[in-house]
Amino acid sequence: MRVTFHGVRGSVPTPGPSTVRYGGNTVCVEVRLSDNTLLVLDAGTGIRELGKQLLTDNAMTAPIHLFITHPHFDHILGLPFFAPLYRKDAHAIFHTFTPRAHRHAKHPVVFDGEHFPIRVADVPARLETADATNGEFFVGSARVQHVQLNHPGGSTGFRIDDADGTSLCYLTDNELHPPGPTTTSVDQLARFAANTNLLIHDAQYLPSDMPAKRGWGHSQVDDVLELGRLAEARNVALFHHEPERDDEALDRIAAYSDAWVAQHAKQMRALVARERETLELKAS
Ligand SMILES: [Zn+2]
Ligand SMILES: [Zn+2]
Repeated sequence: MRVTFHGVRGSVPTPGPSTVRYGGNTVCVEVRLSDNTLLVLDAGTGIRELGKQLLTDNAMTAPIHLFITHPHFDHILGLPFFAPLYRKDAHAIFHTFTPRAHRHAKHPVVFDGEHFPIRVADVPARLETADATNGEFFVGSARVQHVQLNHPGGSTGFRIDDADGTSLCYLTDNELHPPGPTTTSVDQLARFAANTNLLIHDAQYLPSDMPAKRGWGHSQVDDVLELGRLAEARNVALFHHEPERDDEALDRIAAYSDAWVAQHAKQMRALVARERETLELKAS
């Protein structure tokens, strides 16, 4: 499995010289399975560059499988600028896991004719909605499972197990220790992510952001590293970066994470996700 980050920023795009190394586009991750099936996780502004690459590759013959965690703007804002949607030969499949997600996929707010001039019925590509509320299912060479996360309004996390023995867990936006009722506990998430090659998790906050941001639906770096340790994940990618964090601040988080891993989880590798970075996952 090959995983490429096209957007790693949470909440709002952050262009400019102080974020150029880690990137300012909001969340979007490209996943290429071992049979070359394309999965796209979230449609933040990072999906725009991915769309341009897909047109260059002229890869419109195969369907594009879209997995949107939830309809907050930072996860859907790039959709109207995803070039394949304007090609008649493109086929995009929105996989949905809750009745709410199904409703949003059928009537995306970004294509309601008010937030953007084009309505969903006028999008040239073939759009399909696949209702997968019944649990695990298969896409290409992978089995996909889902889990509900702790986030205001809800968010869906995914686990993708490819036939080549590699796996990816994508958990954003999620507050590991929410102040109110817990939808899915840390222990349940550790089981969901057990032994994964790559755990991508929302790590928007630091202890200094608390208690002001408690209940906002995002996690602290320490809690994410601890989840990786509990799950025995081989790699943990800190993701959905706080918009106020510039490149130097993210470098400090990277150094902190390396030190944390050296002390608490020597088998694990932690990384701060960067735009345009590709990870080749290997079965072990
Ligand atoms: Zn978000
Ligand atoms: Zn959100």
